[in-house]
Amino acid sequence: AEAAATDSLTDGFHLLIDALKLNGVETIYNVPGIPITDLGRYAQAQGLRVLSFRHEQHAGYAAAAAGFLTKKPGICMTVSAPGFLNGLTALAHATTNCWPMILISGSSEREIVDLQRGDYEEMDQLAIARPHAKAAYRILHAEDIGLGVARAIRASLSGRPGGVYLDVPGALLGQTMDALEGQKSLIKVVEPNPDSVPGAEAISRAVEVLKSAKKPLIILGKGAAYAQCDDKIKELVETLGFPYLPMSMAKGLLPDNHPQCASAARSLALKESDCVFLIGARLNWLLSHGQGKAWGEKGAKKFVQIDIEPIEMDSNQPIAAPLIGDIGSTATALLEAVGSDWKKPSEDWTGAVRSKVKANIEKMAPRLKNNNSPMDYQGSLGVLKELIAENPDVVLVNEGANALDQARSIIDIFKPRKRLDVGTWGIMGIGMGSAIAAAVETGNQVLAIEGDSAFGFCGMEIETVCRYNLPVCIVIMNNNGIYRGDGTNWSGGEDPSTTVFVKGARYDKMMEAFGGVGVNVDNPDALRRAVKDAFASRKPTLINAVIAEDAGKESGNIGNLNPSSVVAQK
Ligand code: ADP
Ligand code: MG
Repeated sequence: AEAAATDSLTDGFHLLIDALKLNGVETIYNVPGIPITDLGRYAQAQGLRVLSFRHEQHAGYAAAAAGFLTKKPGICMTVSAPGFLNGLTALAHATTNCWPMILISGSSEREIVDLQRGDYEEMDQLAIARPHAKAAYRILHAEDIGLGVARAIRASLSGRPGGVYLDVPGALLGQTMDALEGQKSLIKVVEPNPDSVPGAEAISRAVEVLKSAKKPLIILGKGAAYAQCDDKIKELVETLGFPYLPMSMAKGLLPDNHPQCASAARSLALKESDCVFLIGARLNWLLSHGQGKAWGEKGAKKFVQIDIEPIEMDSNQPIAAPLIGDIGSTATALLEAVGSDWKKPSEDWTGAVRSKVKANIEKMAPRLKNNNSPMDYQGSLGVLKELIAENPDVVLVNEGANALDQARSIIDIFKPRKRLDVGTWGIMGIGMGSAIAAAVETGNQVLAIEGDSAFGFCGMEIETVCRYNLPVCIVIMNNNGIYRGDGTNWSGGEDPSTTVFVKGARYDKMMEAFGGVGVNVDNPDALRRAVKDAFASRKPTLINAVIAEDAGKESGNIGNLNPSSVVAQK
C-alpha cells in the first residue's frame, strides 16, 4: 500500500493521521480489524507508535492511563460495534476519573445503520457513546477531519478533562480530496487546556477560612497529580504547614515519608480536623462523601476546595470557600495572598498527628518483616515496599481487593505520578493496560502488584508486554481466589465456591509461553530476589507469589458496601 499521500491527492486515512500528528499525538493504543487495520499501518508508517493489544478494553485503559500521566489525550483505536463497546468501558473510566482520552472507532455505513438494514457490525455507536463520554463526535467528510480532531482534543483537555468519542465511518477513510486543500483544513489547537484563575475575592475568602482553622488538613487528589505543577503544590503544602492526606494516586506528589504526611494517622486527621482543604480531590464515595463517623461531628468542618469544575462544589458538603481554577494558577495566587508572614497551625495539632503517624508506623514495622511461607500480605508487601524505596522511579501499578488496600497503605511512593490504580470506580482489570502505558510513556521500570482475581480480567495482555519487550514486572498475589481462596460452596453442591479459583495455579507459566521470565515464589526472600532480577534485567517478568489462601478479607477494606440478606444466613 502507498504510505504517503500523493502530491495532488490525500485521503481520510492520511488526513486523520496528519491531524493527530499536528496536535502532538505520538502513540496510539490499538486493536486492529475492519475498518481500521490499514489506519494503524499507515499511522505506523507515518512515524506514530502504534501498540496493538489483544482486547480493546486494555488498549483503552492504556490510553486512559497515558492521559493521566502525560496531560495529553491518550488515543485508543478500535473496530466497530463489539470492539467499540469493549473500548467504551475504558472511555467511561477515563471520563469518570477526569482523564483526557480519545476513543476513535471505525463504524459501518450510515445509510445502512440508520435504516437498520443489518450491516456487518452494525451499531449506532455515536448515540451509545454520548452518555459515557464528555463529548462525542462523528466525522462524515474528509474535509471535516481537521475540525473533528481539533474538537476532540479540546473537549478532552479543557476544563475538567474527560473521554471523547470520535466516530469514523469506514467510508470516510477512503474519501479523497486535494492534498493542499487537505493540509489547509487541519487545525492545530491553540492552548487546549487554558489557565483558569479564581478571582481575587475567592482567593481572599479562602485565605480567611484557612487562617481561622485550628486543626486544618489538606487532602491531595489525583487531579493534583494530573495537573503537573508539582513544585507549586509542594510549596503550598509546606508554606501552609498543614498535615496532608494523599489520595491513592496523589501519593508521591510529596514523598510519603514527608513530615506533614498524615497517611498513617488518617482516621485521626479526618475525624479531628476542623477545616479540610481539598486540592484536586472529590468528596465522593472514596471519602465517604465527607460525612459519617469517620468525619467526626456533623457540620463541624469547613471545606475549602480547588477544582477546575465549578459544579463539583457543594456536590456533597457545603464548600465555604470554592476556588474554581486550575491547581497551578490557584496555588500561585494563594501563595501570593498568603505572603511571608503566614502563621502555621499550632504544634498541638500538627504534633498530635505526627505522633500518631509515628506510633502507627512503628506498630506496623515488625509485621512487614515476617518471613512466612506461604506469604501473607504484610511479609510480601514489606519486601516490595523496600524495593520501591530503593527504586523511587519505578511506576507502581496496583489492583485487586486486599492486594490493593494493603499495598496502598504499606508501600510508600516518593515521586509524583508513580502510582496507577483502580481509580474512581475501583475497577478490576486496569493492571496490564496501565502497566503497558506507564512503560511506554515514561520509559521507566514498572511494577504491577496484582490480585490473582484482578489479573484474570487483563491477563492475556502479558503477550503484549512480551511482544513489545517492556520493562514490566508483574507480581501476582496468588491466594487462589477472589478476596480469599478458602471459600466453600454453602449449598453443598459439586461446583466450587463462587469465589475460588484453581488451587495452586502457576501464573508464571503463562509468562513463559510468550518468552517472558516466569518465577514462582513462596517466601519474601525469594520474592525480593525475583523482583531485583527483574529490575536489573528489565525483562518482562511475572512472579507468581504464593499467598496463604486464608489471607485477606472479603472485599478488602470496602466490605461495608456489600448489601446483606436478612433471610439467608452464612
Ligand atoms: P481522588 O480520587 O484522588 O480523590 P478525584 O478524581 O476524585 O481524585 O478528583 C480529581 C479532581 O481534580 C476532579 O474533580 C477534577 O475536576 C479535578 N481536576 C483535574 N485536573 C485539574 C486541574 N488541572 N486543576 C484543578 N482541578 C483539576
Ligand atoms: Mg486473590
